Amino acid sequence: MDIKKILEYQKKDAELNKLEKELVKSECKKIYQDMISVVKQAQDKSASLEAQAGYIKAEIDRLNKSYKENSNNVSKVSSKDFSSMKEEEIENLISMMEALQNNLSILEKKMLAEAEKLNITLTEFEKTKKLYGNAKAKYIDNKKQYEELVKAKGPEMEKIKQELREMEKDIDQKVLARYKQHRQDNLFPIFTPLSNKSCSFCMLELSAVEVDKIKSQGYLECDNCHRIIYNSENNK
Ligand SMILES: [Zn+2]
Repeated sequence: MDIKKILEYQKKDAELNKLEKELVKSECKKIYQDMISVVKQAQDKSASLEAQAGYIKAEIDRLNKSYKENSNNVSKVSSKDFSSMKEEEIENLISMMEALQNNLSILEKKMLAEAEKLNITLTEFEKTKKLYGNAKAKYIDNKKQYEELVKAKGPEMEKIKQELREMEKDIDQKVLARYKQHRQDNLFPIFTPLSNKSCSFCMLELSAVEVDKIKSQGYLECDNCHRIIYNSENNK
């Protein structure tokens, strides 16, 4: 394997890698990506608060209906003519009236409690809506900043890519394919020299058999960091 050509290629590619890393690690990219989950969470929360408000409203309607029924019964009882009734009948009606009044008072308390719950839910909903709006604005702003950064670095990156394409013509296609596969997996550098008996990237010590293999075939993939260890002695 012609190590020299691929090492030159890797050196040029390092310039591209550096620019790519600057983009990946840029603060605006981090922020806009963070905002995606904030926006998503706020959306989910809004939906669940909306559903909750719906349940509370339904419960209030149910209580209201019951209140009206009890209220009507109170009116009915109080409109009866007591003058012709026996004492026992009147007593029955009085205890019925008391039971109805008691129901109304319980229903009133329940309705107040539900109204309070609804109030809290709606306040929370407003807060979430505001959070969503802020996060979305932050997302749009930072994404725009990131796109401008990409645009600013674009010509320089394109120039390097063009140079790399030129260099590719002189590289063994199998070696290049392997290089590109590793590059896609976000490994960099890809080729690393043998240092004594170790991988110079991760310092994993190799067996004598492996060192021999590197010396005979020129390279070997590191079991630990997956860099391709080459024999630098042949290429000095
Ligand atoms: Zn290694």
